[in-house]
Amino acid sequence: MDQPWFCPHCGRPLEARRVADNATGRVGFRAECPHPGHYRTVVCATRAAVERRLERDFGAPDA
Ligand SMILES: [Zn+2]
Repeated sequence: MDQPWFCPHCGRPLEARRVADNATGRVGFRAECPHPGHYRTVVCATRAAVERRLERDFGAPDA
């Protein structure tokens, strides 16, 4: 990710993860807090889509 995003629950940096869907075999990406149960995005097709999702949830940094 181009910029750091932080978990709204604990303030730790979100980690970008590459995830494979076992059912479809497709690979996607999401950002998630290392703490289970905290913030995570849905799985997106690209890293850019994850970024857009974060901007929508937290607000664009230059908005
Ligand atoms: Zn957290």
